[in-house]
Amino acid sequence: MKRYYLLIVFCLTFSHLFAKSNCHLATPPNQKIICGKFSAQYWNPLPDSIVERIVGKSWKPDCPIPLEDLAYIKVAHWNYNNEISIGELIYHKNLALEIIEIFQELFEAKFPINKMVLIDDYDANDDLSMESNNSSAFCSRAVTGRPGDFSNHSYGGTIDINPVENPYVRDGVVLPKGSEPYLDRSLKVRGLIHEGDACYQAFVKRGYIWGGHFITLKDYQHFEKIP
Ligand SMILES: [Zn+2]
Repeated sequence: MKRYYLLIVFCLTFSHLFAKSNCHLATPPNQKIICGKFSAQYWNPLPDSIVERIVGKSWKPDCPIPLEDLAYIKVAHWNYNNEISIGELIYHKNLALEIIEIFQELFEAKFPINKMVLIDDYDANDDLSMESNNSSAFCSRAVTGRPGDFSNHSYGGTIDINPVENPYVRDGVVLPKGSEPYLDRSLKVRGLIHEGDACYQAFVKRGYIWGGHFITLKDYQHFEKIP
């Protein structure tokens, strides 16, 4: 009886995650997921090459979570040229399958993402990453404007999407540079997140908080969840 129960729980969990025809189901660890034109893969623990890439940059010994809790993920996404690109991100292992499921929804809705490489390619400098309109997730760093206070990006359940079209604004300071026109949230331009659109829904229905709802500042690129 217990065996049947476990089987049912397993089937419900994974059929919920990838309940599309032609999908290869994901089972941890390090499985490739292919679902029509969408594909993804994740690794936990991190491959040595990724550890070398992030230690001393986005991950440092004072980071609030250990390297063992992080997963390296590759996902297909539509880019601004209407082509399929493969993006990469670092995420908390507990939310790895869920963020892949979110990217699958963005892919199916053709929500475009300009670029998604590890923030370590910018020496973990968030300003430089944002200026090149790079979407990024894990980075152990202080809250913007609050040195010494860890940002939620340090815990692996937080992601910034298309920073140029979805700026951060506080007390008149708009980041990244050049993103001021996109403070007009009624603009209909590629990659801009509108409340209620496919990107917003994919995150919020899974319990994410959107930075566009923050009170003391607005951070339209930002979705966060506690792993
Ligand atoms: Zn953010």
